[in-house]
Amino acid sequence: MSDNRDADAKSTQQIHHEYVPPPGFAAVAPALHRASTVLFEDVAAMRASHWLDKNTYTYGLHGTPTSFTLEARLATLEGGTHAMLVPSGLAAIALVDQSLLSSGDTVLIPANAYFPNKSLAAHELARWGIAHRFYDPMDVESLRAALGDDVKLVWIEPPGSVTLEFPDLRGLVRAVRAHAPRATVALDNTWGSGLAFDAFDLDPGATPALGVDLTIHALTKYPSGGADVMMGSVVLRSQALHDQLALTHCRLGLGVGPNDVELVLRGLQTVALRYAAQDAATRRIAQWALGRKEFVRVLHPATSGSPGHAHWAAQCRAAAGLLTLVFDPAIAPERIDRFVDDLRLFGIGWSWAGPMSLAVPYRPDSGRVGDYPGTLVRLSIGLEDAGDLIRDLESALEGLARA
Ligand SMILES: *Cc1c(COP(=O)(O)O)cnc(C)c1O
Repeated sequence: MSDNRDADAKSTQQIHHEYVPPPGFAAVAPALHRASTVLFEDVAAMRASHWLDKNTYTYGLHGTPTSFTLEARLATLEGGTHAMLVPSGLAAIALVDQSLLSSGDTVLIPANAYFPNKSLAAHELARWGIAHRFYDPMDVESLRAALGDDVKLVWIEPPGSVTLEFPDLRGLVRAVRAHAPRATVALDNTWGSGLAFDAFDLDPGATPALGVDLTIHALTKYPSGGADVMMGSVVLRSQALHDQLALTHCRLGLGVGPNDVELVLRGLQTVALRYAAQDAATRRIAQWALGRKEFVRVLHPATSGSPGHAHWAAQCRAAAGLLTLVFDPAIAPERIDRFVDDLRLFGIGWSWAGPMSLAVPYRPDSGRVGDYPGTLVRLSIGLEDAGDLIRDLESALEGLARA
């Protein structure tokens, strides 16, 4: 269940995170620094500088005090020790794949994963001689069967991107550790955001700790919160793995702009509170949806009857702001498109976790909805009043009845 004390702790951590302001200028907000060139004291200092250890500044692409501050706060948020920034959440997935996989290796991806992760594997990775296999994240045995000596990387993504099934995270990680001890376990933490569960400590009290090796996060979503910035991160606990990824990051020339870093730093101060508010509103809307005859299923990990609800309840303290409605298959997909058009408060658009609620319909033949026979509408609940959103949904459903 959502635990307010924990949300307060995360907020408090972000707002009071260590920051040393310039002498005599103790503003609450960290300063925004921008640079390509960073000057060295002398040639000896230039020769002695090592960008990888982050104790010195060497070049804009290798980080500024502003980007290092954001990295430190993200590592805290997700329970890691190191972080790096990339231009989008998808770029974070690509960085991990490119850094950890070589020709002849195989990556495992959950069948219900974020579609561009699969697309990257099917096109770019395939061209480089890297294979991929899908597994059913709701069946630990399916993952175990897909593991082999060729598997160097396993992606986990809770919950499913559109269908929101919540997997047994502990079971999946244990299967990889037992049957492919050399494989790296990467978790897409965009939905959990470091708030719903601890990716690096999935079974508190277990020794040794049970956790993934790294997380990626679309900062575009909750950390930004404004629907106005694209950024991604990789968070880790291992120095060796960090160094490997950081070298690839450097060689690829991946950097982020200082203004965007500033926006995400600002967003992080309210991420826990926004997440909790969106979570609470989404639960209320899910309960309302259970009482409507137009929907044959309400997919939302914290709602009983949703696939993987028991896993969610055993592993999570919060549930984000996504909710997918499975319409009665008797309702024609064109009428559901009209239902989405008729919504006044829900925008039609990609992404989620911003202030404005969004709705996207997925037809059964879209290849993204598993075996559900009817059209699905995924709602991202924003920061509007939940009662207003329910009234908007009701009025669009009235239009559906008349159509
Ligand atoms: C949005 C999203 C991404 C990609 O983030 P972008 O910043 O839009 O590239 C990756 N994974 C998940 C689960 C997402 O929802």
